[in-house]
Amino acid sequence: MSASSVSPIKELPFSRPLEFEHAVDCAAPGEGHWFVFRGEQLLVEIGPLERPSDDLRVRARPAWARVPLQKNHNWLGSASLRCLYLGVLDGTQCWAAELPAEAEAPAGMAWQGLRALFSVLDDACFALAGRALQLIDWDRTHQFCGRCGERTEASRKERVRVCPACKLSAYPRVAPAVMALVKRQKQILLARGRHFPPGMFSALAGFVEPGESLEQCLAREVAEEVGVQISNTRYFASQSWPFPHSLMIAFVCDWVSGEIKPQDEEIEEANWFEVLQLPKLPSKISIARRLIDAVVAQIIEESKSTTDV
Ligand SMILES: [Zn+2]
Repeated sequence: MSASSVSPIKELPFSRPLEFEHAVDCAAPGEGHWFVFRGEQLLVEIGPLERPSDDLRVRARPAWARVPLQKNHNWLGSASLRCLYLGVLDGTQCWAAELPAEAEAPAGMAWQGLRALFSVLDDACFALAGRALQLIDWDRTHQFCGRCGERTEASRKERVRVCPACKLSAYPRVAPAVMALVKRQKQILLARGRHFPPGMFSALAGFVEPGESLEQCLAREVAEEVGVQISNTRYFASQSWPFPHSLMIAFVCDWVSGEIKPQDEEIEEANWFEVLQLPKLPSKISIARRLIDAVVAQIIEESKSTTDV
């Protein structure tokens, strides 16, 4: 009756909404949701900041927030540094735009980071905001050819910028990163990165290097960051992570050998934790928290079915 694998989860924040159809060119611009950014902040119609937050990086969340529709804001699309068509959500066009860093929010609206809008915006708009943030960042950073320096041009057929001189194509970049939650009997290994909010611990994570499989990356990252050896790697789930353009691929694995030795530059502290005595954890916005919650639930469930608890 003990579960040998952790139950998978269906959908994570930032997953493509089922009712969304991607497109790059719009024949007849019309009414639309506008995902307007200033840096990493999204322009939203917003209520008072009075909802508690499960994210140590966010003090409070707004009572409500909405992505603006064109009909309420006829200025949308004008004065933007860049403007991209995203596609159609449930019959309504979706547009992404960027305003200058000094742009002020109109009355009744505010600039908010996506972390503060998690669980406030509806799931589909939240996911498309993440997509818009990544595409705007890609458009901003690929205006010139990386090979010959010529100004690039956006294709009308697919999401790519092409150099008219040397034909180099620049597609939106996605950087794969693996996440590992290491189990040792009824304990899990959690670590603190140097940039984490005070008291917060999470699973280990790192970017995949060229010439490396996900499994190899996982073993290397765990060995480098905390000095332990692992085996029995099980896939958990993946999540698009738009800060700025990652794909997080999460695994559960078992400790084999080695004592924890945190890597000085990256890891401030790492420990084995009992599942009933966990430290502060990341927000449910991230796959890290879903992974930890799922493994903790599995360990508790397994403990119930054994006689020593
Ligand atoms: Zn070129």
